[in-house]
Amino acid sequence: QAVIRAENLGKTYAEGKLHTPVFSGLTLAIHPGETVAILGASGAGKSTLLHLLGGLDVPTAGEVYVAGQKMSALSDAERGRLRNRALGFIYQFHHLLPELSALENVMMPLLLAGRPLAEAQTRAQAMLEAVGLGHRLDHKPGELSGGERQRTAVARALINRPACVLGDEPTGNLDERTAAQVFGQMLELNRVQGTSLVLVTHDRSLARRLDRVLELHEGRLRTLSAAEV
Ligand code: ADP
Ligand code: ADP
Repeated sequence: QAVIRAENLGKTYAEGKLHTPVFSGLTLAIHPGETVAILGASGAGKSTLLHLLGGLDVPTAGEVYVAGQKMSALSDAERGRLRNRALGFIYQFHHLLPELSALENVMMPLLLAGRPLAEAQTRAQAMLEAVGLGHRLDHKPGELSGGERQRTAVARALINRPACVLGDEPTGNLDERTAAQVFGQMLELNRVQGTSLVLVTHDRSLARRLDRVLELHEGRLRTLSAAEV
């Protein structure tokens, strides 16, 4: 069973120019453990697609299924719970809570899922150690480097062992070397946990390391061959 399945997906913003669809008729399945890159020019609709796949926005046509559940059939609260349980999100800007330590930030999804404090602490510490931040547990985001902040965000996205992580330019604001390092860590967690990855990126050298590369262009999604990436 696909982790995320989109059928005939379409999005038109009410306030968009001439109400032209950003895209329509997109069909896509993300399989367990699969890593997928989404390339495309600025404005092609990559963020829009990622928001629809993650249930952060509602399509104007078609359906999204997450872990087999039809998103449009769920209440907002049910959709929120499914998101927290099945999905992780990583953005270009980390969205960590500034007043909390790295450890507390990573514990947060577990606490929201109702896990006991002691378990959340142990697991969050192990996850930060896994991304090489065992020595930064008590640092607040403002006391971490850009790469360390982004690795903390990766740890937070993966702590609930989601079936799939959705990343919108997750390494976009990092220098090349740090980006490659954070990216490598995401691939390692994919390998160890079997978490699917769907990453919007403009970095073809990173995209090339994923199982499948899609390009969003003029409202269509096309699979690129290895030679094209
Ligand atoms: P990308 O991530 O590929 O840069 P986006 O998904 O952000 O593309 O945007 C796709 C198109 O939809 C653009 O033309 C953008 O201006 C438009 N758009 C994005 N978000 C909104 C919104 N909230 N309201 C109206 N138009 C939007
Ligand atoms: P963009 O993807 O538009 O370039 P960001 O990556 O900074 O912008 O993320 C902002 C987006 O996060 C908003 O468009 C918003 O739709 C989305 N968002 C909505 N709800 C959440 C949430 N619960 N957690 C994280 N991001 C969310």
